[in-house]
Amino acid sequence: MSELLLEVKDLKIHFFTDEGVVKAVEGIDLKIERGKTVCLVGESGCGKSVTSLSFLQIIHAPGKIVSGEMVYYRQTPDGTTWEIDLAKLNPKGRKIREIRGAEISMIFQEPMTSLSPLYTVGNQIIEAIRLHSKATKDEARKQAIEMLHRVGIPNPDRLIDEYPFTLSGGMRQRVMIAMALSCNPTMLIADEPTTALDVTTQAEILDLIQELQQQYGMAVLFITHDLGIVAEVADDVAVMYLGKIVERGSVDDIFNAPKHPYTQALLHSIPKVAMKREDLEPIQGMVPSPFRRPNGCSFHPRCSKAMDICSQIVPAVTAIDDDHTVQCLLYEDVASRAEVERAQS
Ligand code: SF4
Repeated sequence: MSELLLEVKDLKIHFFTDEGVVKAVEGIDLKIERGKTVCLVGESGCGKSVTSLSFLQIIHAPGKIVSGEMVYYRQTPDGTTWEIDLAKLNPKGRKIREIRGAEISMIFQEPMTSLSPLYTVGNQIIEAIRLHSKATKDEARKQAIEMLHRVGIPNPDRLIDEYPFTLSGGMRQRVMIAMALSCNPTMLIADEPTTALDVTTQAEILDLIQELQQQYGMAVLFITHDLGIVAEVADDVAVMYLGKIVERGSVDDIFNAPKHPYTQALLHSIPKVAMKREDLEPIQGMVPSPFRRPNGCSFHPRCSKAMDICSQIVPAVTAIDDDHTVQCLLYEDVASRAEVERAQS
């Protein structure tokens, strides 16, 4: 039986800007199990990356976690588990620094922005190892070389003394993965790790992450807008739109029986081999400005199945079955809900 590693409950993250409040994440629920891969999917600006940064408590001002829980089920080597609510930890405190980069680590879209050009590859990996363990400098160097070897870097004992800017994009991404895995994390967050790479290198990096996941038994939260990648790596999928998870289910549910019109539209917009340009079905309209979130269902201005009621009522979460949920009024008993809301007002 699979075990829960992270459980997110009604998480809200807002940015308090001079122009107004941006509700980047507006009440999401998510479960990540040990050893499984969850894909967080959606268009740019839907809140995927902000959600993942909140797990490490690295949301910068003017952003703030305003409510909700992120329950992390921490385990000792003897198998004892206890709960920590990551949302309540001080972002600069000892507890989150023990977890960040060690138990939960992250690889970013563009490694050049995460690797310092002033330090060698080795310095950066050794620092990460020594920050979270009692390894001596020599032991950490040995571990770093071993890790570089595992991620497929040729001549790791030579490359360890190179600077990141001397490496190709694929090599830099491998270095980022080596650094992220150097402390044997229980969860790896991969934020669009292959977007900046060519397709061949992209396939190699995806294979590498999956291979290392099996070796280390870690959970992976994969953030992407590429449904081809989702089909290849995911166990479970959460589809985000304007700060909400509008559909959640197994990869089979999402690809074979999608319920939300947005998920359906995303799947229809994937180009296929031999498809003509005019056969592509792009999603109508644009993602609305975060300062002007539409009333009711925020997808209604772009939804091909929208009803009059969709601009008035915010859809609740409806369970399709045990592991498949959707936020859409097509699956709700709208008449009785409207009656209850009338009675309460
Ligand atoms: Fe479309 Fe209405 Fe469902 Fe929103 S609630 S996705 S507008 S049908």
